[in-house]
Amino acid sequence: MSNIIYIDGQFYSKEDAKISVYDHGLLYGDGIFEGLRIYNGRIFKLEEHIDRLYDSAKSIMLNIPMTWQEMIDAHVETVRRNGLRDGYIRTLVTRGVGNLGIDPRSCSKATLVIIVDKIALYPAELYEKGINVVTVATRRPAVDALTPRVKSLNYLNNVMAKIEVNLAGAQGGIMLNHDGYVTEGTADNIFVIKNGKIVTTPKYVGILEGITRNTIMDMAAEYGHPLLEEALTRHDLFVADEIFFTGSGAEIIPVVKVDGREIGNGKPGPITWQFINGYRQVVNSTGYSVFE
Ligand code: PMP
Repeated sequence: MSNIIYIDGQFYSKEDAKISVYDHGLLYGDGIFEGLRIYNGRIFKLEEHIDRLYDSAKSIMLNIPMTWQEMIDAHVETVRRNGLRDGYIRTLVTRGVGNLGIDPRSCSKATLVIIVDKIALYPAELYEKGINVVTVATRRPAVDALTPRVKSLNYLNNVMAKIEVNLAGAQGGIMLNHDGYVTEGTADNIFVIKNGKIVTTPKYVGILEGITRNTIMDMAAEYGHPLLEEALTRHDLFVADEIFFTGSGAEIIPVVKVDGREIGNGKPGPITWQFINGYRQVVNSTGYSVFE
């Protein structure tokens, strides 16, 4: 079955789903996006993703031409039409069609695209064995340059990092900020465990405030694990007992090697497993119901 894709209130087949080459999302990466998951017929953390979408839009002064509730309904309707009970949603809002200059005032109306599809970011066995990651030379942009808090269509920074990961023959990358502090993965947040204490990087170092990150923080509170937001250096990673990445696409993936240093005993640790198993339960038992 071909995917059914939403563009500005209309539904198209994958082959027919096209936007203008004059769209500033293409010309300048001027736009924002979200990546959501569907589990068991429910969209996971739909409201939180739509809140973040509207926050990103507000930050870059992009006017989304529909209400929050209409946005929720558009997502539900697109998933329903695709009939997919487990899958992935990619939502884009671009500045829209304008002229060839950078000035966003030439774009009279934002373009909204909602794609529903399948996703598999890592092979299944890596969720059991963990991944080997390297620190990349490409720095995450400073918060006063292009804040990573905005989930913008400008992902060249992350793509450059991913190219380094590929060249190194690794499976994941860690990006530092200009002060040398750990920010996040190329498209995931990071959690580090040492002596039973869980640490994740604070927003001010320059990260996307991940929805999965926030879910893990809620789960840690529920499990009674101490969790802190603290700036981390590579040293903190090298001497960690456990490390994992989090993201809507990747979910929770254990990291077992950083820059050649084995993490813990080189296998995913017990707290990581607790979160992996707990997360599976959370995603399968909560979410915005689509089909009933
Ligand atoms: N950081 C970056 C740079 C991302 O692109 C993403 C989303 N893939 C994340 C973190 C994780 O965010 P979320 O948990 O909301 O998917």
